[in-house]
Amino acid sequence: MRQSELFTKTRKEAPKDEVAKNAQLLIRAGYIHKEMAGAYALLPLGLRVIKNIERIIREEMNAIGGQEVSLTALQNPEVWKKSGRWADDAIDVWFKTVLKDGGEIGLGATHEEPLTAIMKEHVYSYKDLPKYVYQFQTKFRNELRAKSGIMRTREFVMKDLYSFSRNEEEFRTFYETCAEAYLKIFQRAGIGEHTFRTFASGGSFSKYSDEFQTICAAGEDTVYVHKEKRIAVNKEVYTDAVLADLGLSKSDLEEVKAIEVGNIFPLGTRFSEALNLTYADEKGAHVYPVMGCYGVGPARLMGTIVEMFSDKKGIVWPKEVAPFAVHLVSITGGNADITTEAGRLYELLHESGIEVLYDDRDIRAGEKFADADLIGIPTRLVVSEKTIAAGGVELTERAQGSSTLVPESEIIEVLQK
Ligand code: ATP
Ligand code: MG
Repeated sequence: MRQSELFTKTRKEAPKDEVAKNAQLLIRAGYIHKEMAGAYALLPLGLRVIKNIERIIREEMNAIGGQEVSLTALQNPEVWKKSGRWADDAIDVWFKTVLKDGGEIGLGATHEEPLTAIMKEHVYSYKDLPKYVYQFQTKFRNELRAKSGIMRTREFVMKDLYSFSRNEEEFRTFYETCAEAYLKIFQRAGIGEHTFRTFASGGSFSKYSDEFQTICAAGEDTVYVHKEKRIAVNKEVYTDAVLADLGLSKSDLEEVKAIEVGNIFPLGTRFSEALNLTYADEKGAHVYPVMGCYGVGPARLMGTIVEMFSDKKGIVWPKEVAPFAVHLVSITGGNADITTEAGRLYELLHESGIEVLYDDRDIRAGEKFADADLIGIPTRLVVSEKTIAAGGVELTERAQGSSTLVPESEIIEVLQK
């Protein structure tokens, strides 16, 4: 993409009311637009990052047998009344609205009930299970606090997967498989090293749920982490009894702030019973499937990455999530030959399947470099009179900052490594 055609601009200042570093940087670099507190629009660069994160998640969910669907955001109260969760004290973040005829509907904050109701139309026998169903769907939550930028918003897409297993053992096996898949997702997104599987409250269905917490000063949660064992305990369950149960001792744990980037949850038969989802086992007896749910928010993950990887100059994207692999910058100084040369390189990169943002704008070099630093694309290539005279292109890694001169004939090979 040519930067001269990109409609978004960078800016020096973030909006005054924006307190979160992730949103400040993303707004300044033109990734997102703040619509109001707790609601952000994705602009072209931001959408590219989100799509990359969604691709990683989708690949890992498909790899463990997930089947993708898209349920409705509008919610039928009748389905929710069956589980008792239509009540505002059961789900305190409900957004509800009124139809023209006076009837009420909800905006989905989560999707256990509607999916379980759908499964009831398709699951009859033990041969129909297990099944793993997921979606990327907009959730609406009337969150009290919305001070963490894109990490806590009132409208956000969640990847939520729900598992339907024949028994507890089958459920547990999948639960562990999904926990592994989550660690792969965070690894690929660049935050693996800082992200810990964390024991958290299990609600009323199970002793614990498992959160995936990324250690970060901007986090809203407090967790106690055991770095060697690579596990943590959320403050909400940090008691002597729980530590004894987990075989952990206080002296081995470090208190840190963390961001909950994912959460997986055993549901037992809470929803299959409430919605009367059963299957016939080998003997013909009717049994409630054992369920689990598995959530991760792509935008919270994106915000976490920005919190973790930035410097004074801007964002430093990990490779797999970056909006483009390469930022090609031409410094022409009014010399048309440089423009021709940079244009040729742009076509070459493009044809080689390398995703490239080409800064072909007619502005000062300093402005181009400042924008490139702010936007944070991993690899920068500079074409100028100086580099052409030296027979190549200047390559700089955003993360390391060091530059090398690469002969033009080797550039594709170097980039594909
Ligand atoms: P929190 O405790 O942070 O409010 P939660 O436990 O209510 O989150 P879950 O229902 O477990 O959230 O949601 C699964 C995942 O969805 C979270 O781990 C997070 O990645 C994402 N998520 C949850 N709430 C939000 C939000 N308000 N904005 C953006 N992403 C969110
Ligand atoms: Mg959670």
